[in-house]
Amino acid sequence: MSSQPQRSSSGSRSPGHDRYPLLFEPLDLGFTKLKNRGIMGSMHTGLEEDPDGFERMAAYYSERAAGGVGMIITGGISPNEEGGVAIRNEEGQEVYAASKLSTPMEVEGHRKITEAVHGADPDVKICMQILHMGALAHNDALVAPSAVKSRINQYVPNELDEDLLQKQIDDHARCAGLAREAGYDGVEIIGSAGYLLSTFLVEKTNMRTDQWGGSYENRMRFPVEVTRRCRAAVGDDFILIFRIAAMDMLQGGMSWEEIALLSKELEKAGASIISTHFTWHEGSVPTIATMVPRAAFTSVTHRVRDEVSIPVITSNRINTPEVAEKVLLRGDADLVSMARPMLADSDFMKKAEEDRADEINTCIACNQACLDHAFAGKTTSCLVNPRACHETLFRYEPASAPKKIGVIGAGPAGLAYATVAAERGHRVSLYDAADEIGGQFNLAKRVPGKEEFSETLRYFGRMIEVLDIELHLGTEVDAEMLEGLDFDHIVVATGVRPRVPEIEGIDHEKVIGYIDAIKEQKPVGKRVAIMGAGGIGFDVAEKISHAGPSGALDVEVFAREWGVDFEGHPRGGVTGVEPEVASADREIFLMQRKESSVGKGLGKTTGWTHRLMLFRRGVQMMNGIQYQKIDDAGLHVLRDGSPELFDVDTVIVCAGQEPLRDLYDAAKDKGISIELVGGAFEAAELDAKAAINQASHRAAEI
Ligand code: NAP
Ligand code: SF4
Repeated sequence: MSSQPQRSSSGSRSPGHDRYPLLFEPLDLGFTKLKNRGIMGSMHTGLEEDPDGFERMAAYYSERAAGGVGMIITGGISPNEEGGVAIRNEEGQEVYAASKLSTPMEVEGHRKITEAVHGADPDVKICMQILHMGALAHNDALVAPSAVKSRINQYVPNELDEDLLQKQIDDHARCAGLAREAGYDGVEIIGSAGYLLSTFLVEKTNMRTDQWGGSYENRMRFPVEVTRRCRAAVGDDFILIFRIAAMDMLQGGMSWEEIALLSKELEKAGASIISTHFTWHEGSVPTIATMVPRAAFTSVTHRVRDEVSIPVITSNRINTPEVAEKVLLRGDADLVSMARPMLADSDFMKKAEEDRADEINTCIACNQACLDHAFAGKTTSCLVNPRACHETLFRYEPASAPKKIGVIGAGPAGLAYATVAAERGHRVSLYDAADEIGGQFNLAKRVPGKEEFSETLRYFGRMIEVLDIELHLGTEVDAEMLEGLDFDHIVVATGVRPRVPEIEGIDHEKVIGYIDAIKEQKPVGKRVAIMGAGGIGFDVAEKISHAGPSGALDVEVFAREWGVDFEGHPRGGVTGVEPEVASADREIFLMQRKESSVGKGLGKTTGWTHRLMLFRRGVQMMNGIQYQKIDDAGLHVLRDGSPELFDVDTVIVCAGQEPLRDLYDAAKDKGISIELVGGAFEAAELDAKAAINQASHRAAEI
């Protein structure tokens, strides 16, 4: 390396920024400088495989560069075909389908990204992530140190022979060299998450007996050699980040001593920065969901930082500049990686720098439009920012003819419509019968583990002020009132009402609705049946089975609930640690009519966490239920065709919703022209993601 990188000393205050001095302190790497400590972490968006992907990624990343981020790490690019994803064509042949960089011909596309980012701000660095999926790849030629199938992949990997193994090292080095040619400022090699490099490190996935397996020194050889060869390929003045699993969350995973040794060896091999990652994809501890406390894992990064002299990146659930600053102040890391927060708000860093942090559209860690899409092979976006990854297709242009717009309903759809329309220059008035904005989001934020939803309401509340939207709370708008209002355009976003199933005894005193249960407006007994196991049925089950403080707000509670020992750091952080889950003193039955497994429709990346937590609390989940009647004895059902009585004290109805269109229908009768958005338009399949997306698109067009 040409010269030693500078690291911030914990607690030292830079004179640069009053509120976030450490976040806005530059970092000198010796051969280059990062302008601040806030970096956009790598996230696969699906644009990598889109036909217009390079143009779209150029717009996506350059918007973040203009938004003040110090460094960007791209989504993963494979160094070869065996490390990526193939699909079968109509003839049944495999066709390579993932983005890779293994030939000079592939350099041109990447140049579009690097030129756009450097054009937006020449001081912003962009590094390409080299992602060899190893045993998680989807193709017949996938490779791994040993032929050990991952529990989350259908393919069994081919064990690497020496020639093929050397080829993987060569391919990484060539890929890094090509990235440099494409104008990147560096590369990040991913050596975590269950991808190729990490599987060399762990005994259960590396059963080799040659120089690449057996002792830890041998198991470490491959990632270290890849790093050394990549450094040789790119020269000294190029950023080389290695992403390690600082706590892999695997039973029998890496020990702390192994992680410390690996970090030191990577530094010697030429890494300029170590990035810390947590869990493998097959681990059973949530690390990115909304139930994970903010900055939950940075203490582990701190320990890694103590082992090396190069800068260290931390990540996971750091979603506000305040939290990022605290992490830096504790000396936990030199750089803070925020991937999803930059999706949610491309101007995150700019707003922080300009002391407008209260205007940041905060990532609420829901995963609904980002990781759930990525894992389903769909283009990523963001629930709170539907423009994310659609920058070339979807713009908020200034309105050519500003209008006076009335929006009735201040739930997610009404708020999105009002703020996008106002941002475009329309004059907007917003009405709601309730005395707070937010609609259904006010329920979500009361569910333990979903406290982050209140950030979206804080954001919208602030934007109402900034955009000078006239807000009328506690105002029930009826058709007569509408007639008297002087608007060019009226939007009805009155949302939904809970569906009341037609079951004998549905008006029995034992029966309550989910709103009363979540808002704790009616008592809930000791034995409870929840009728309906969609997102809200699960939320209600979480709310009424929960005991004690929320794990999302307390790292120690979270660690106990999920069986993680942050301090002792046994193998994987979890080996031999039993989860200790507190639960309310209740017997709960969560029911649905469908035969499919309960919770199947929940988010791909978070559904398992909700199911597992409820299971650990003893909630009984039942499918194939036919409701018969509710009476003093309880809930009568048919289960597998046989009658059964659940002698419950309370039945909570979570049977979905119907559109609330009374105002729309009344206005139509009076010949008032109005537009419907959100749940009032279509309640089926509607969630906040769809509501905000639809309303934002409509408001972008008017
Ligand atoms: P939902 O997901 O559509 O679930 C409705 C539930 O009610 C289903 O379990 C359905 O299952 C049952 N049901 C439907 N009609 C019924 C009837 N006539 N009688 C008895 N049961 C009936 O709706 P939701 O739970 O109200 O959630 C609303 C929206 O918000 C959804 O889009 C949901 O995805 C979203 N949401 C998401 C989350 C999240 O964490 N991602 C959390 C909360 C809400 P059966 O028909 O099988 O009985
Ligand atoms: Fe964050 Fe949810 Fe947006 Fe993903 S979809 S970036 S988790 S707010």
